[in-house]
Amino acid sequence: MNAISFPVPPEDPAARPDQRRPALSVEGLRAYYLTNVFGVRREVRAVDDISFAIMPNEIYGIAGESSSGKTSLIKAVAGAVRPPLTVVGGEVRYNFAGETISLYGGGPVDLSAVRWKHLSYIMQGSMNVLNPVRRIRRSFEDFAYRHIGRSRAEFNDIVSGHLERLHLSPKVLNAYPHELSGGMRQRVTIALATVCRPDFIIADEPTTALDVVVQKRVLGLIREVQRQIGSSLLFVTHDMSVHANLTDRLGIMYAGRLVEEGPTREIFAAPKHPYTKHLIASLPRIGDRTVREGLKGSPPNLSDPPPGCRFHPRCPAAMEVCRKVAPPFVESGARRRVACFAAEPETIPDRESRRPIA
Ligand code: SF4
Repeated sequence: MNAISFPVPPEDPAARPDQRRPALSVEGLRAYYLTNVFGVRREVRAVDDISFAIMPNEIYGIAGESSSGKTSLIKAVAGAVRPPLTVVGGEVRYNFAGETISLYGGGPVDLSAVRWKHLSYIMQGSMNVLNPVRRIRRSFEDFAYRHIGRSRAEFNDIVSGHLERLHLSPKVLNAYPHELSGGMRQRVTIALATVCRPDFIIADEPTTALDVVVQKRVLGLIREVQRQIGSSLLFVTHDMSVHANLTDRLGIMYAGRLVEEGPTREIFAAPKHPYTKHLIASLPRIGDRTVREGLKGSPPNLSDPPPGCRFHPRCPAAMEVCRKVAPPFVESGARRRVACFAAEPETIPDRESRRPIA
């Protein structure tokens, strides 16, 4: 595949983010589904005290199985929270070209001024973004025209050039979404999310519905676009092989919490948390005929999570302490963090509680 370049729209160097400050800081974020049906209140703790930061020009991945809270986290980070999902604590801060935007630190925040230009969101399923009864051209006009701020003719040239760099004919602008294949629609979505050269891109399982060949091509395009425009990228998928090929750093989520974080290569080479070890061991390898064993049990009900470590009912290394005390998410070597008593034994409160669960 040829390298692609993005000369338009022209970049204002003064508008680039400060490379030393995180592009995104998430601190103690809690987002719960709060429901009240016939007087019965329910609280599902989908995102429970999560903190991480992403630097400019970095690709940060979030991994974890279904119902681990990944999509709820993404919605809270993108400021796309709708009831019953509610942010009940914590903070999300963006740094766009020296301007700090705090999503949950004060009153309501109007994100419409920064969406697409500074912050864009590639959602699960391209049809969620593309209006089925409007031609593709209208979607570009709706989302990008006012941010690019050029004449109509110049805008059309910019969009056509951008589509060509993503290996799409400008003729797709006259098509309705249903007239395009799934792979083409997903590339149109990526073009929409990147045409304004945003500082930060959030992508939620953008390739899950695609076949393997199209997925590989789309991932290559996402990486090329990110490198060309120098954005930060928060990429969420349950697919560990995608993370291995795309992300710089990786956060592993289990039952609403981050349980491990570090450079992707290091996590794949030496995972520390038993859940991460399972995720990596379950990946197929060419020539390896070993039978893969599934993890016993299922993820916990987040309206009534188990006490202590939420992974303890499924963990082969669980100790007495794991039933009662939640392991702290602590530094574990350079640029690594883990929440596990077995990986960081000095965090165990007393010697007695190190006994394995019978
Ligand atoms: Fe397993 Fe205990 Fe570590 Fe949790 S804290 S992952 S139960 S060893």
